[in-house]
Amino acid sequence: MRGFDVLILGAGIVGCACALECVRAGLRVGIVERDVPGGATTAAGMGHIVVMDDSPAQLALTRYSRSLWQELLPHLPVGVEYERRGTVWVAADDEEMGEVHAKRKTYALAGVESEVLDARALAAAEPNLRAGLAGGLLVLDDAVIYPPTAAAFFLHEAVRGGAVLLRGQGADHIGKGIVTLRDGTTYAADRIVVATGADIALLPSLPIQKRKGHLLITDRYPGFLHHQLVELGYLKSAHQISSDSVAFNIQPRLTGQLLIGSSRQYGNENPGIDQRILRSMLERARSYMPALAGISGIRAWTGFRAATPDKLPLIGPTDDPTIFLAMGFEGLGITNAPGAARLLVDGLLGRVPGIDATPFLPSRIALMETKHA
Ligand SMILES: Cc1cc2nc3c(=O)[nH]c(=O)nc-3n(C[C@H](O)[C@H](O)[C@H](O)COP(=O)(O)OP(=O)(O)OC[C@H]3O[C@@H](n4cnc5c(N)ncnc54)[C@H](O)[C@@H]3O)c2cc1C
Repeated sequence: MRGFDVLILGAGIVGCACALECVRAGLRVGIVERDVPGGATTAAGMGHIVVMDDSPAQLALTRYSRSLWQELLPHLPVGVEYERRGTVWVAADDEEMGEVHAKRKTYALAGVESEVLDARALAAAEPNLRAGLAGGLLVLDDAVIYPPTAAAFFLHEAVRGGAVLLRGQGADHIGKGIVTLRDGTTYAADRIVVATGADIALLPSLPIQKRKGHLLITDRYPGFLHHQLVELGYLKSAHQISSDSVAFNIQPRLTGQLLIGSSRQYGNENPGIDQRILRSMLERARSYMPALAGISGIRAWTGFRAATPDKLPLIGPTDDPTIFLAMGFEGLGITNAPGAARLLVDGLLGRVPGIDATPFLPSRIALMETKHA
């Protein structure tokens, strides 16, 4: 039976980032992917590298991960389309302007640079926004990437460093250092890292739920949009855990295309487009940018985020000392892939992590189950 120091299950952006980090630590790595690497939620995501402040732990991980993306920048191929566009959190009224000031303070305390825009500065920064908005918060160093090529870059570098990609068969069961594939092939590994995204078939008791999202990409309109724009109400939408929600979120692509999002739905595992949700998402976008009414969309799609009850990912060891997790990234797996990979490998090797890894440890699952029972 072939053996590895670490066998990673799933070659989405998270599994690929973990593979590269393991290779760089000198470990013998295998990666099991049943389908196309980077072809699941990673291919459906928006590619916004964003610092989020919905909890101190999320702020620490997104900030850390964004800094690791910045370190990677000189090595990223052009196909990754990394652009430092900045995020503008758009405030519709004075109440949301209050949130802008609070957010700026939180970011400043965490060493994240941001700038308050008044109504006039917002209109100058993004002339296609509707008149009458109150202002916004510009987070300068947030960026945009194309996630599938970023995953391919991590994977390519990992394989170049000696990792073995075992592609075509999914893992069927795992335990005690053995991975059995669907065709019966077995591999031995000192550590098995489950990075299967929203698919929890290998560990069905994990408290991860699929959260469906829609996106739409337009034809090319260079110069129409300059920053990634997100309505402040997005945070309310992202925090809701029961009902369907949509929020205005629009991204300029290097090609001049506009990527429009986004929606959140629980309890809908049908990957098809839900016309009602798509329509309401686009109406929301037009309510912020009326000029979008004259723009042609060329493709819409859906993807499934992997949501945990406390909205933080699961990174680290489980009760089985051979099984580790790197999953549950909800809407931040593209941003957090490099930070999660670094924390995971720090844990594997007993290195001191760059940020506190405790909030992400899977050992908190028992606590989550009690809270959400
Ligand atoms: C609409 C939408 C917008 C988003 N926007 C952003 C954004 O702007 N910024 C951001 O940071 N994040 C965003 N996200 C979230 C981000 O896309 C995900 O968090 C991230 O892609 C998760 O990556 P992953 O590697 O964990 O999972 P995946 O990409 O789903 O990869 C998991 C892989 O595991 C494989 N697999 C599953 N089971 C098995 C098995 N048994 N054996 C072998 N292989 C298996 C799958 O084939 C797949 O390739 C968005 C998500 C959605 C849906």
